[in-house]
This record gives sequence, C-alpha cells and structure tokens, in this order.
Amino acid sequence: MWIIKNANVFDGVDGQLMKNAAIVMEGEKILDILPECKAMFEDCEVLDAQGQYVTPGFIDCHLHMLSDEIPDKERQLNDHSAGGVIFDNIDAFIAYRGADKARQVLHAGFTTAVDGGGTDFIDVALKDAIKMGYIEGPDYYICGKQITAWPSHFRGMSVEAHGPWGMRQAVRQMVFWGVDQVKIEMCAPLRTLGRSMGKSAFTLEEVRAAVDEAHSAHLLVSVHARSPQSIKDSLLGGVDLITHGTGMDDECIDLMLKTEAYLLPTLASPPREPSQLLKDNKSRRVVELLAEQGKVHWEGIRRAYQAGVKMVLSTDAGGVGVLHGEIPQEFLRMKEIGMSNLECLRAGTSEAARAMRLEGIGRIAKGYRADLCILEENPLEKLETVLDVKHVVKAGKLVK
Ligand SMILES: [Zn+2]
Repeated sequence: MWIIKNANVFDGVDGQLMKNAAIVMEGEKILDILPECKAMFEDCEVLDAQGQYVTPGFIDCHLHMLSDEIPDKERQLNDHSAGGVIFDNIDAFIAYRGADKARQVLHAGFTTAVDGGGTDFIDVALKDAIKMGYIEGPDYYICGKQITAWPSHFRGMSVEAHGPWGMRQAVRQMVFWGVDQVKIEMCAPLRTLGRSMGKSAFTLEEVRAAVDEAHSAHLLVSVHARSPQSIKDSLLGGVDLITHGTGMDDECIDLMLKTEAYLLPTLASPPREPSQLLKDNKSRRVVELLAEQGKVHWEGIRRAYQAGVKMVLSTDAGGVGVLHGEIPQEFLRMKEIGMSNLECLRAGTSEAARAMRLEGIGRIAKGYRADLCILEENPLEKLETVLDVKHVVKAGKLVK
C-alpha cells in the first residue's frame, strides 16, 4: 500500500476538486480517497504532492504507435530507406521505434492509448511486450491491420477485402490476431493527391457485414471517414466510432446524435493551419490540400460540438506530423473549438474510457485502476499545465 497525500484531485468527472486529499493505493487499484486529510501516514510509503493537482491518467483514443510521418527528408527510415528501397529488416526497425514512442506517450501522461492501424501485426507484439513488462508504455489497445478496398500506400498497414463475405473474412483474421477494435478505411488517406475522398470505399452491405462480425466478437468498429458520404454510410452501417469525421454536415450531425456514435475528431489531422513542420517537409500541393481541408475539418467539428455530438480525445500521432511526445496538445486544440477546460479533461479521461468501453479506468474513484497524472497547476483553470506532466502513475506504479 502507498499513498499520495496533499493532493487536489480532479476525479475525471466532477468540476469540483477534492481538496487536500490522500489517494490510497494497493496493488494496481485505488483503495480509497480521503478528502481534507491531515493524517501523516508515518508507517507507509508516501508521496507528498505538496498541493499539486492529480488527474486520472490520460487516454488517447486514436494514434499510430508504429508510424512516424514527419517525413524527415534526410532520414527516411520511416517506411522505406532514403532511396525508396524496402529493407528486409524494416519491421525490426519499426518495432524498436514503436517501443520508443510508447515510452514517450506514457511519459506525456497517457496511461492508455488506442492504435488506429499498425504495421505487419507489430502492434500485437508491442502490446504483449508492454504487458509483460519488457518495455515501458501505456495500456495499449490495437486494431491490427486496417480493412481497405485497395492496397494501402502505408506499407504493411492494411488487409484488402471485397464483398460482405470478404469483410467477414478480414474481421475474422483480426479476431484471430487478438485485436481490441476493428478499423475500416471508408476513404483514401487525406494527403494522397489524386485520390477521391468523396465516395465511400465500401457499400452499406459490406459495412454491415463487418460490423455484425466484429460485434459478435464484442469488438467496436471504428472507421476512417473524410467526407460526408463516408460518414453517413458508416453510421447507417452501424459503426461505433467515426475517426476524423472531416466534412460534417447537418445530416451527418443528425445521424451522429441518433446513433450515439462517438466522434474521434483528431484536430491535428488535419490541423487548422499546416504547422511549420508540415510546410518544411511536405510538397507544396500537399500543404495546400492540408490547408484547405483543415478549414473544412475544423468548421465541421465545431458545428458537431455545438450540436452536442459526443467526442473524445484523439491525436492521430504518428500521422500528419503529430509527434508522440507532444500529444497533450490535443487538449488545447479541443479548447479551441469551444470546449470548456472541464469538457476537454473529461474527453481525455472518463469520457474517453466510456467511448472505448474500457471499464475501471478514466476516473479517480474507489476500485478504479491507479492510473494518475500529477500536474503543477489546476488544469480546470489553466489547461496548459497538461503539457508538462510532473509525475505519472500507471497501475499503481510511479513510472515518471
Ligand atoms: Zn489515424
């Protein structure tokens, strides 16, 4: 048993902090929370938070631990060598890099992360390696390969499927690999010039087959959707999570509200304006496309938020120049679309857990897992404090 004392606690839900509280932990779990606690706790292990602020560990509902799309032109060991040649041992490189990213994500305060598409099932291995304690990382939930209607331009990231039975076969393959979610690509990646994002990649019949197969294995279905049509078809097909959701119109919003699906708005993908990193590294046409789509994306997400669509924190780190070590910045982007500090914090803790159907995390409460962040200032008043997490506790262990 050990205790964090003198803490001001945001429990993941309540806008009122528990002042001067002691959090009592045993094993992986929170045993008790004692507000206004003056006990000295002399005979057990104690961390004095000295009036700092404790929140639940953060949850990223969409990232790519195995990608690193910063396109560093000098060193393109990203998916290929500098000359475009695929090395035989590139999977080993991706795995080592993934281990480094996992540590960065955890140290940024994220004790849980959901991957929206891995490479060559390395995500399965990474998940096991974290679980077994070989490497540091968040609780890592995975979708294996994305299901696509074409060969993916991301090496090793997809399995191609056609027709309802093809979709079922692809989902069954993912179930075999032990994935936690199923991911369907309903349109092409954003910065693939010349590819249509308007039309849905799969018919309603195909989406329904995949959803039926996934739900029968108790798995959520998430779709990559970058156009109104692809969002609508996905929702009509019964999917649980809309990822990106670029181009939300009134019909999409109505359907989102009716179906109670969650939106993973990935506000850095595309960003409101292309970052310097993107300008320096992407071609002019891609930067123009990102600038144009960024406006459409943010406008749609803002409208969806105002209409009451449920959305949770999702960074798309690993894609479009989003660095894994900087993922807490998504909290501030959510604030930029109009969310209050409390809503942003819930979207990255309790609400994220609910959207991902993960029980026993995302809150500081009796019996919940001891996944915690310690911050210097009150995040309900100064949200920027999430950018600099002082300590991280994962499953009852101080990891930073
Ligand atoms: Zn993504």
